[in-house]
Amino acid sequence: KDEVLRTDVLIIGAGPVGLFAAFEAGVIGLSCHIVDALEQVGGQCIELYPDKPIFDIPAVPVCTARQLIDRLMEQCKPFAPQIHLGERVMRVERIEEAHRWKVTTDRGLVFDTAAVLLSAGNGAFVPQRVGLPEAQALEGRSVHYAVRQRAMFADRRIVVAGGGDSALDWALALRDQAKRVTLVHRRNAFRAADATVQEMQRAVAAGQMDLVIGTIATLNAADGALQSIDIKTLGGDTTIEADHLVALYGLVADLGPIAGWGLDVRAGRVAVDTSYYETSVPGIFGVGDIATYPNKQKLILSGFHEASLALRKAYGYAFPDKKRVHVHSSYDAALSERILGT
Ligand code: FAD
Repeated sequence: KDEVLRTDVLIIGAGPVGLFAAFEAGVIGLSCHIVDALEQVGGQCIELYPDKPIFDIPAVPVCTARQLIDRLMEQCKPFAPQIHLGERVMRVERIEEAHRWKVTTDRGLVFDTAAVLLSAGNGAFVPQRVGLPEAQALEGRSVHYAVRQRAMFADRRIVVAGGGDSALDWALALRDQAKRVTLVHRRNAFRAADATVQEMQRAVAAGQMDLVIGTIATLNAADGALQSIDIKTLGGDTTIEADHLVALYGLVADLGPIAGWGLDVRAGRVAVDTSYYETSVPGIFGVGDIATYPNKQKLILSGFHEASLALRKAYGYAFPDKKRVHVHSSYDAALSERILGT
């Protein structure tokens, strides 16, 4: 990934506000890329409440959070924003001579952008880690927080930890190729869909996988590789032989690197000036839940408005010599053709 991706605006966060910003950027005439740490778009709407109804989106009396994200994706589609998922932005650095920004992700993407639109919510959603001191040294080799390459689990003894949909789905999905799959969860109640819980119980009854109710106490390793896992159960302690632990405990939001970018951060939020929702660093804008200012409401509709204003100022950073003349979208012939023609 050595190529540098050049754009007018880099949108950090593909939640509802970041997606609407991609549409607005297109309307205003700015190119954009969007980056999100998650493997899917939608931010809190998809991660926390996909099936909950939302009643306060203008002109949409009711829709589920998932439907809102689908509609936002459809709305920005005519402008074909490039969306990079599973990439967490780590660094934002000024390219002084060019008056631009160099932005780098944890997996090596590099952007060169005129403006940065931070629509990062509560920070990146990252996996909740195994809280044992020995886990860190095993991460990547024997301890995993996502399944990226299934092949590495073939004919291995796998412990999948967690009680939600991803834990159960992966325990079931891996049972055919693994030597043995054991699902470990701290209590005999699961947060997964009923049908998935039933399928898991059928697979356990049929001897296709094991279920242990208890908490992981110790990871036993030799030569940097996991050998077995000690588990505390109500009936006493037990040890399971394991080559890999896939811990799917859910995600937590982490402001992480954003705190180190020289912005005015107050109680986990980025302070902005409400004329254009620009942060204390010119060229970096804060919109949606990440932004704080007097009377800020953490609502999707506030984020839409903030993004719209921020991008109008971002235009000046991308095209310092051009003056943008406002035309209502319905009178803009090129825009109509673009939207209606796709
Ligand atoms: P988010 O949705 O939080 O998205 C931010 C994204 O940025 C995340 O996907 C994150 O992974 C990504 N990100 C952060 N940092 C990085 C980084 N460094 N690199 C890469 N990616 C990064 N609002 C309403 O208006 N109406 C409602 O009915 C409503 N109901 C709600 C119900 C619940 C249960 C909750 C929790 C919230 C509700 N809200 C509602 C609030 C609403 O969901 C938020 O205001 C909205 O999601 C904010 O959108 P956002 O795009 O700013 O941030």
